Amino acid sequence: MKTTKISDVAFVLQPKDEEPIGMDYEAWCEEGKKRFGEDQLGWKFVCPACGNVQCARDFFQYRKDGATPSTAYQCCIGRYMERSKVRDAFGWARPEDGFSKEVERPCNYTINGLFRIKAVTVILGGQEIFAFRFAEPEV
Ligand SMILES: [Zn+2]
Repeated sequence: MKTTKISDVAFVLQPKDEEPIGMDYEAWCEEGKKRFGEDQLGWKFVCPACGNVQCARDFFQYRKDGATPSTAYQCCIGRYMERSKVRDAFGWARPEDGFSKEVERPCNYTINGLFRIKAVTVILGGQEIFAFRFAEPEV
């Protein structure tokens, strides 16, 4: 039986002039440490759809809703918030879906949905994991 991987079905909206970023897990961890230090819960990621900067610690309050530390690099935090305070990632939601038209960020984007933008592919144990890009460290 053939199983369909998520990477077979997602549309990758990688800008043409931007190379996809792929790295192994060790290199990814090195990059995180270099930017934000040893504490992985404080590593900051950028939502590619709205630009929201978030870390795993921000998601702690949503653990009852299923958020894990990994959620910080896979979902915009808006997915866990009231829709009226969140914009729809691509602006395709119907009015009755209740998303805000005024809010700039956060949004409801997830990297494991149908559309993948500006992802980093991290290879862990031979498997591809898609991650948001790291934020720039604060100076
Ligand atoms: Zn977002």
